[in-house]
Parts: sequence; C-alpha cells; structure tokens
Amino acid sequence: MKVQVAGIVNESVTDGVGFRTTIFFQGCNHHCLGCHNPHTWAFDGGNEFEVEELISQIPYSPLIKGITLSGGDPFFQPQAASLIARDCKTHEKDVWAYTGFTWEQLMGEGDADKLELLKACDVLVDGPYEQSLMCFDLPFRGSSNQRLIAVQDSLRVGSIVEIRLEE
Ligand code: SF4
Repeated sequence: MKVQVAGIVNESVTDGVGFRTTIFFQGCNHHCLGCHNPHTWAFDGGNEFEVEELISQIPYSPLIKGITLSGGDPFFQPQAASLIARDCKTHEKDVWAYTGFTWEQLMGEGDADKLELLKACDVLVDGPYEQSLMCFDLPFRGSSNQRLIAVQDSLRVGSIVEIRLEE
C-alpha cells in the first residue's frame, strides 16, 4: 500500500506529550482559513512511500513516547494511517492523531476505514482550525474548538472524554 507524505519530524515536542515522531500526511480538503500547512492540501503533492518503507524509518527508541499522525489530515488516507498506528502499538508506544473532522463527524459518517483508524489511536485532536478561536494557551492545538480526546475511554463509555492538560 502507498502513502502520500509531506514530511516526517523526529523528536518533536510540539505534537503531543513527550518526544514524538510526527508524520505529516499529504492531502487535506478542509482548507481552514489561517492553516499553517497549506502546502499539505494537494493530494498529489509530497512524497509517495510504501507504508512498510515508511514504518521502517520510524525510530522506536526508548526516548520516543509515540507517534503523531498529522497533516494534512491522516483521515484522508485512513488505511495507510491505520497500518502505521497499529505497528506503533506493537512497539508499546502511543498514537496521537490530528484531524479536521470532528469526533461526531467521524462517528456519524460510518466510514469503516476512518473508524478503524480512530480505534487505533490513543488521543485525537479533532476539528478544523478556527482562526477566530485561535488560542496560544491551549497545549497541542491551535484554536479553542479543538479538543484533546481520550479515544479509548471515549469509545468505552460512548461519549467524548476530553483530556485537560491545562488544568
Ligand atoms: S485540517 Fe489542518 S491541515 Fe487541513 S486545512 Fe485545517 S488546519 Fe490545515
């Protein structure tokens, strides 16, 4: 399986808790006003990898707490992103994912591939970037509409469980 990627950053501390490898997926049609990564919008941009090739480049050192699937939007390539996330779990690391879809959209849409990806994640940062709600004080997100969602807890109880790092 192929995956279209805008870039990979190792030892990031800005895309989730701890040192992380962040994979920026290429392709996004949310087109949020004020998006910091508009070069990731085009679905034919970036670089194409075999998923296995990309996985082999992720350094699962003891230093790394986990991976972050960002973009772009990984939920536009859910099958490839799921493979990467599931491999990460075999290394006993955690998976964060950023998406312009809301939790409600992902759950309500009934897209099996997107739901599979969601189930492979530990933390979801959901929703589009809203320039009018921009906030510098919120850890790991750009606007106050976006939520840090504890995915496994939310799936277990059937409603959104937010993570409050700022408290
Ligand atoms: S979802 Fe993210 S990458 Fe896509 S347009 Fe919005 S801010 Fe940019």
